[in-house]
Amino acid sequence: MSKTKSSESVKVVVRCRPMNEKEQAAKYERVISVDVKLGQIIVRNPRESSGNELPKVFTFDAVYDWNSKQIDLYDETFRPLVDSVLLGFNGTIFAYGQTGTGKTYTMEGVRNDLEKRGVIPNSFEHIFTHISRSQNQQYLVRASYLEIYQEEIRDLLSQDQLCRLELRERPDTGVYVKDLSSFVTKSVKEIEHVMNVGNKNRSVGATNMNEHSSRSHAIFVITVECSELGVDGENHIRVGKLNLVDLAGSERQTKTGAQGERLKEATKINLSLSALGNVISALVDGRSSHIPYRDSKLTRLLQDSLGGNARTVMVANIGPASYNVEETLTTLRYSNRAKNIKNKPRINEDPKDALLREFQEEIARLKAQLQKRSGKKKRRQRRRAGEGGDGEDLESGETEDDEEDGDDKGDYWREQQEKLEKERKAILEDHSLVAEEKARLLKEKEKKMEDLRKEKEAGEMLSAKVKAMESKLLVGGKNIVDHTNEQQRMLEQKRQEIAEQKRREREIQQQMESRDEETLELKETYTSLQQEVDVKTKKLKKLFSKLQSVKAEIQDLQEVHINRRQELEQTQNELTRDLKLKHLIIENFIPLMEKNKIVNRAYFDEEVEEWKVKPITRIEDDHQMMSRPLSAVGYWRPLSHHAHRAMMLMPDTRYKAENLLMLDMDLPARATKEYQEPVIAPEVAAALEDALRVDDEIQVDASGFRSSLGSVSPAGASGSLKKPKSGRPRTGKKSSTPTSPYSPSSPGSPLYPQSRGLVPK
Ligand code: ADP
Ligand code: MG
Repeated sequence: MSKTKSSESVKVVVRCRPMNEKEQAAKYERVISVDVKLGQIIVRNPRESSGNELPKVFTFDAVYDWNSKQIDLYDETFRPLVDSVLLGFNGTIFAYGQTGTGKTYTMEGVRNDLEKRGVIPNSFEHIFTHISRSQNQQYLVRASYLEIYQEEIRDLLSQDQLCRLELRERPDTGVYVKDLSSFVTKSVKEIEHVMNVGNKNRSVGATNMNEHSSRSHAIFVITVECSELGVDGENHIRVGKLNLVDLAGSERQTKTGAQGERLKEATKINLSLSALGNVISALVDGRSSHIPYRDSKLTRLLQDSLGGNARTVMVANIGPASYNVEETLTTLRYSNRAKNIKNKPRINEDPKDALLREFQEEIARLKAQLQKRSGKKKRRQRRRAGEGGDGEDLESGETEDDEEDGDDKGDYWREQQEKLEKERKAILEDHSLVAEEKARLLKEKEKKMEDLRKEKEAGEMLSAKVKAMESKLLVGGKNIVDHTNEQQRMLEQKRQEIAEQKRREREIQQQMESRDEETLELKETYTSLQQEVDVKTKKLKKLFSKLQSVKAEIQDLQEVHINRRQELEQTQNELTRDLKLKHLIIENFIPLMEKNKIVNRAYFDEEVEEWKVKPITRIEDDHQMMSRPLSAVGYWRPLSHHAHRAMMLMPDTRYKAENLLMLDMDLPARATKEYQEPVIAPEVAAALEDALRVDDEIQVDASGFRSSLGSVSPAGASGSLKKPKSGRPRTGKKSSTPTSPYSPSSPGSPLYPQSRGLVPK
């Protein structure tokens, strides 16, 4: 890693954990052997007891067996990477493997146990020790912590744990998480606190921590900014970013009977990991011009770590027991491919978004302001001295924040205060002043004192702020003379040298191994035919066994391939079924016109990779969308057909979308009833008829009177059709009955008694 080439491979190491208690109790067979010297993992197939299948051998940059110590891994594999981050490179460490094989153990390890600390806490120690030993450099360290679960990004350091973040892309800095919080940390303790807060939040969001952590990816990001005076006399800033990634468990999610929601979940969990696999394949095969980074959040976020501007180490974790052999082989094949990814790391110098630069500029600005102020004050003091203490007018209108540096700061404030106090006393004692004038002057002085106090407070606050800002910028060189430190440093250096030595040895051995077969023939000179036959037979055997293992590997790969294909086909079938159901619903229950409108409005948002529907009002050119739905002609708002009809039928306001106020006149209810004639039974009516007929006879008798009086109209006597004038109730028959010539209203008819109701017989 220490070499600075323009292009370098992803480093892949494999770590095999010890058998756990359960496996020991169940007496599982160990199928993994680890050749640390050669960097090889050898996998025996437990099914083939006859031994005609050869063990599979995988070679990596380094391998670690169950006895490996955390610190060995760190010194040999991770320390060089973190060192280059301190130099301004980007670095990434991935932990990949089946659940329960030690990914979290490798990344975090056991808290509070120095020996079992993982990469993350070890890197904290490493970074801050490096800073404390540095000279003439200024550092700023910050940390972020995020999690990707079901393709959603959660900020593990934010207050609001329900908030989901989105990815954004900028041409200059690449892909980043929008609004991700990051904390500036000044010591190991502080950054550990940040990690603990994140870990706590991680388990808060999970119902079942084990399941959750095996399905989510956790990324801890440390950004180290370093400022140093360059040869050109300018300050240069280098920014290194370290991504520490604990990936989700790589085992296949069993999808037995998964449907609907669960199926969706299963496909989403696998999405980021399978996308990672696809990216690796595309990078390695050399034929694809398109690398599918955009297929998942994880690959987008770590785009630089895979084939880009970063140094990358991948730790593949495996278990030793026989029942895991399938997953182990998958992990080994996966990481074997990753070895061939080429990265192009470079030092990030003076990037636009360096926080350190902002800090430095802000501090410089504040300091310049202070300098200016203190200059002014000194001048003021000098002038005051010259003018015999009559300098109070000079300060009028000066209210801005201020800060005095050095020893004369306290003096200045005290002096000012004393002066004002003295002046106040003088005014109080001055009897020549009018009371009013005195009060005014006193008030003025008090105000001045108040201003002075405020100014002082503001100055103190500002100075505290500058101090706080400066304290965040870390500078080293303090402990450099410390004796124990020196010893420790020597020890570290020795350890590093040993690690480097080991690494080189392994490399040479690996090279020798691979050259062995090629050069064998050249070296050999045969003394006899028999010897030649022997040697060649031996070589043939070796080559034959190699051929067999390659053949077996091909067959295995084909099997794996077929299995994956079948799985994908099954997933596809299930998704197609799901789709058909949605189609059925759309075709039968959504009006065609509505469907077309929605289709016209829908668009695919590349940024968040989701379909979205444009709001109606924004579409100016699409007249179809601007026109009102037919059912709502004459209304302000669109109405459904049902609401429209309900509004017509029911007078209440349930379906009213507008004109909710009823402006009709509210007439009082009638208190009287319509007049209704009494109903008369037919017998009564007949009796009345009879009675009236008798009346006629009487009338005949009375004709003499009538004519003599002459006051009665002749019509009345001759059976008139005129309606009776009186409103009184009459007999059942209408008074207009032609058979009834009786006229009760004949006033003054002495023959008939004035009676109410019927005329008695
Ligand atoms: P993962 O994160 O891959 O699901 P863990 O890191 O949680 O797996 O490891 C599972 C268990 O195995 C833990 O109890 C851990 O302590 C133990 N373990 C893993 N690797 C090692 C190792 N190299 N040495 C000792 N114990 C280990
Ligand atoms: Mg884990």
